[in-house]
Amino acid sequence: MKTNVPGYPRIGSNRELKKANEAYWAGKISLEKLQMTSRQLRRQNWETLRDAGIDLIPSNDFSYYDQILDMCVTTNTIPARFQGLKATQITANSPELYFGMARGYQKNGFDLTAMEMTKWFDTNYHYLVPEFDGTQNFELAYNKALEEFEEAKALGIHTKPVIIGPVSFLLLGKIKEENLQVADLLDQLLPVYISLIQSLEKAGASWIQIDEPTLVLDLAPQQQALFQYAYNKIAAVLSSAKLLLTTYFGSLQDNTALTLQLPVQALHIDLVRAPEQLEQLLPQIPAHLQLSLGVVNGRNIWKNNYEKSISLIRKAVDSLGEERVLIASSCSLLHSPYDLDLETLTPQLKNWMAFAKQKVYELVDLANILAGNNDILVANKAVMQDRATADIIHKPAVKARMAALTAADANRKSEFRVRQQAQEAVLQLPLFPTTTIGSFPQTEEIRKLRADVKKGLITPEAYAASIRKAIEASVQLQESLHIDVLVHGEFERNDMVEYFGEQLEGFVFTKNGWVQSYGSRCVKPPIIYGDVSRPLPMTVTWSSYAQSLTRKPMKGMLTGPVTILQWSFVRDDQPRADTTLQIALAIRDEVNDLEQAGIRVIQVDEPAIREGLPLRRADWPAYLEWAVRAFRVAVSGVEDATQIHTHMCYSEFNDIIDSIAAMDADVITIETSRSQMELLEVFSSFSYPYEIGPGVYDIHSPRVPTVAEMTALLEKAVQLLPARNIWVNPDCGLKTRKWPETEQALRNMVTAAEKMRVAI
Ligand code: GLN
Ligand code: ZN
Repeated sequence: MKTNVPGYPRIGSNRELKKANEAYWAGKISLEKLQMTSRQLRRQNWETLRDAGIDLIPSNDFSYYDQILDMCVTTNTIPARFQGLKATQITANSPELYFGMARGYQKNGFDLTAMEMTKWFDTNYHYLVPEFDGTQNFELAYNKALEEFEEAKALGIHTKPVIIGPVSFLLLGKIKEENLQVADLLDQLLPVYISLIQSLEKAGASWIQIDEPTLVLDLAPQQQALFQYAYNKIAAVLSSAKLLLTTYFGSLQDNTALTLQLPVQALHIDLVRAPEQLEQLLPQIPAHLQLSLGVVNGRNIWKNNYEKSISLIRKAVDSLGEERVLIASSCSLLHSPYDLDLETLTPQLKNWMAFAKQKVYELVDLANILAGNNDILVANKAVMQDRATADIIHKPAVKARMAALTAADANRKSEFRVRQQAQEAVLQLPLFPTTTIGSFPQTEEIRKLRADVKKGLITPEAYAASIRKAIEASVQLQESLHIDVLVHGEFERNDMVEYFGEQLEGFVFTKNGWVQSYGSRCVKPPIIYGDVSRPLPMTVTWSSYAQSLTRKPMKGMLTGPVTILQWSFVRDDQPRADTTLQIALAIRDEVNDLEQAGIRVIQVDEPAIREGLPLRRADWPAYLEWAVRAFRVAVSGVEDATQIHTHMCYSEFNDIIDSIAAMDADVITIETSRSQMELLEVFSSFSYPYEIGPGVYDIHSPRVPTVAEMTALLEKAVQLLPARNIWVNPDCGLKTRKWPETEQALRNMVTAAEKMRVAI
């Protein structure tokens, strides 16, 4: 049986590409050096896959920055504002233009903003959004796919070039010109794709992988129609090369019939996310079509359950025959960390995991099992058995607590109106109360403190004393600025998920488990391997200390269960909802302890609620229900007079406003300044009853907003919401800012709030 890898990570096992890119941007290494590093990385990847025995080895899955940006450059989809820069460059693949489109370009008299970036489906990878503004003249400007195919060929490795399909490329982009139709764009774009594909065929490519992941989304009929049109044209010109149409991250569902009609030689489906689609597809598969089964999870770090995979593969083989079945990872391994061999985890934990390189071996294992090697299967069963029963995973106390949860646990004692009065009586806040979102500038000094204590260079006592000093200074500053609800500043936190994960049971951290997030940015998500519990309070010491320094309310600061889940690698042996609920119970303990310690305002950040939304609308209600319930479980253990805040930086609440309201948070702070308060409209039309802090200034830039700008925004807010419900705060935390601008901006913000109080 043949094995197929849809894509491999490109950052390098030690993030070599990140380092080389950043050194190049900083002018520290030459372009030649960057290119040489990249060539080495590609070669290593190809050799790893070849040596493992993979049949369909990807090429053109490498990218300096992003594979969608690569396709923009390949097809000459250059936004109008970059045309001037392009004219000054010699070739389409000039790094100035390429990185300029990715990162913005501010030199040589140009001031060009970067292309927009957005999440790649429901992953934490971000791609650059193609812009179709009507000025682009599609042409095959730079044949990167061919270059990389030839490069591998020169090394004696026959690869399968990977390209993003024309329909997904268009649908994932933004049409910026009203009169442009996607069908017309497709018509103009197809000749470029055809030349590209023909060039690959001519160079000897036998398989070409075309990714059309938009086939797992809800599509309008006009969008569905684009596929048939495009692939009929493409197929018409091909003679020897075969097309492997690749889908991932979900199920084809209502796009099944149209997909099966496309004139391609093979179809790849994600059987990790949607194993049920195999049985639906098999009876309908046309006789010529091969099927690539994505059975090894490309998006998680767990060892594959061979028994489960084999049963899926056998089903396909029984129906199609061995020659028509390929064994594959569910999606590109881009979303997995590189190599488990580099980790020093406990042997038991390590034995349960597989990173990208190990997943490649798993594909070969599966092929070998099908060829009759039973030992591999037996060994794998033992691992699965170990995990199913391990004490470090399964905590009876946690499971019992989950089982004992009642509806009352997800409900505050009284309804919001009653709570609001109780809170007013205790907190005695003015109208337009001012606050911040939690973090204050993370200076070099603060970062060094945390690094030093981690390395053992300073004692925990010395570390704590220095953090207390930082808290003192921040409290003094906030008091002098007359802010109403203070924060301690989050100086002790490296990251809003890692800080909690490190203190919770059931979490483990890797040394090198990096995954590309965008460009040179990588994240190292915690791994949730077992039942989650909180052995000890996590934030109470810092918050109580901060509260002891002031008579004003000090806000306790926590990360919510959905956000902790979303930004971690999670268990695959229980539903996400259950894992979230376990985290919620741990946070609930912390919330209750903070209240006990005299903290009267507690903020539970949930910036990731929106990004957790499933790809298909039909799946939204179920997700929103458990996500909201988890939040409510986390915060409902407190008295009416304790004020619960939540914070979300991500915009667009239109289609989930009822769920936001169902969270029942006394106060929500959101990012609104850049949208000129437009985001508040939905809260207004929904008659959202709770208090809201619409961000009055953008924290992404060092620019100090004026009082007038902020009062103007607040006046808009007053048009939309009852004044009594409005808070005044920045868009998000201030950790990326510097102190001088922070102090100035907050001073102006408080002045703006004071003006509003007088005006009302
Ligand atoms: N409390 C966090 C902070 O202020 C919130 C960060 C976020 O919303 N992403 O940094
Ligand atoms: Zn935020």
